[in-house]
Amino acid sequence: MRLVVQKFGGTSLSSAEKIHRAARRAIRAKLDGYRVVLVVSAMGHATNDLLALSNEICTEPPKRELDMLLTTGEQVSIALTAMAIHAAGHEAISLTAAQLGLYTDSVHLRARIKNINRNRLDQELSSNRIVIIAGFQGIDMSGEITTLGRGASDTTAAALAAVLHAHQCEIYTDVDGVYTTDPRIVPQAKKIDEISYDVMLEMAAAGASVMHSRAIVFGKKFGVPIHVRSSMTDGKGTMIMNETSSMEEVVVEGVTLKEDLAVISLHGVPHQAGLAARIFAELGHHHILVDDIVQNIYDDGKYANISFSINTSDASTAHNLCQQLARDMIIENVTLEQGVSKVSAVGVGMRTHTGTASTMFEALAQAQINIKNISTSEIVISCIVNSTDGVRALRSIHNAFGLDNHDSPSDQINPAR
Ligand code: ADP
Ligand code: ASP
Ligand code: MG
Repeated sequence: MRLVVQKFGGTSLSSAEKIHRAARRAIRAKLDGYRVVLVVSAMGHATNDLLALSNEICTEPPKRELDMLLTTGEQVSIALTAMAIHAAGHEAISLTAAQLGLYTDSVHLRARIKNINRNRLDQELSSNRIVIIAGFQGIDMSGEITTLGRGASDTTAAALAAVLHAHQCEIYTDVDGVYTTDPRIVPQAKKIDEISYDVMLEMAAAGASVMHSRAIVFGKKFGVPIHVRSSMTDGKGTMIMNETSSMEEVVVEGVTLKEDLAVISLHGVPHQAGLAARIFAELGHHHILVDDIVQNIYDDGKYANISFSINTSDASTAHNLCQQLARDMIIENVTLEQGVSKVSAVGVGMRTHTGTASTMFEALAQAQINIKNISTSEIVISCIVNSTDGVRALRSIHNAFGLDNHDSPSDQINPAR
């Protein structure tokens, strides 16, 4: 019997009516002959509200207690969704990660899935029930509650789809698919019908918040097609799948903006083997995720400047660590620049087409935007700019790559800013 995993995000569950709608969709899949596993996020802005509440209690809440608090949001959703399915006359059961046996490492707030126990799932599915799993949460080997990072219910869904060999993982959200950029910032963005795992992964990692990046890793590794679609309509959304040859014809498929970044620069690092390893090992040891790293060598190869970007939330911890390292390793000085954003252009066509970088830089030059840092990989070009220029940079680059849809009724989605 074929199995489908359906994931509903917070905005798709923000009221009783929307929870009933999600329940109806799951029931429809069941009546169509599928085994159905639902993964739900916290209702509406519940996770943000819980975070705000914790900040009213103390400025630096212990991460363990934050996980304890934040997971309650998803627990509310699973119970209400199960009730909605019961109310419609069908069988459903809600399960937390602990009840299911979704095991993670012990890194609070950004835990990674280690193992998912199928026993309970198989048992409930064989009893013909729709199984509703709390997204975003896990337990570690000693039973501590963890969370997988903001937006990670997508990852719960894709991981379950992988373990259960699902026919498809459906991500129901408040847009009708993946667009060439965030349609709330650029209303001219175009919907993409099909996108490769690789491009989606890079877009998600570079700020396309419509999907959590680790979900794409699971999808690719286990060959699960992911369908991103609207929870409000029945239209076809975007299929995230293996690359096809036609995808190479488009040079840039998407443009992204990642905000709330900071750049840390270590100036005058003695250019010796092993120093960079030591710096980044120390940051990794403190679970700090480092974004793009840029190194320049100067003074006849004696010294290097090393810069990297990180999320603002990690900035002060990372800055303190680097200052300690600077003392130990005789590094000249360490600077921290807050208030920067990253704009990126992503596309598999970059592998075979030339001129992408110059188009991007030209677009920024015409908009009179200074580039602070540039980094490139096989299918991504990124520029760090001042946060105040971020949205303008995104719009200019999107337009420069011919991605603007001039025919689209731009009032379909209200731009947020
Ligand atoms: P959910 O609560 O369903 O998980 P999210 O807020 O996490 O929803 O993701 C949906 C949002 O992602 C959209 O409202 C949109 O503003 C944003 N987004 C960012 N980049 C893109 C993109 N390239 N395509 C579509 N949506 C995007
Ligand atoms: N509720 C969690 C969050 O807001 C997880 C999710 O929505 O995917 O980050
Ligand atoms: Mg999301």
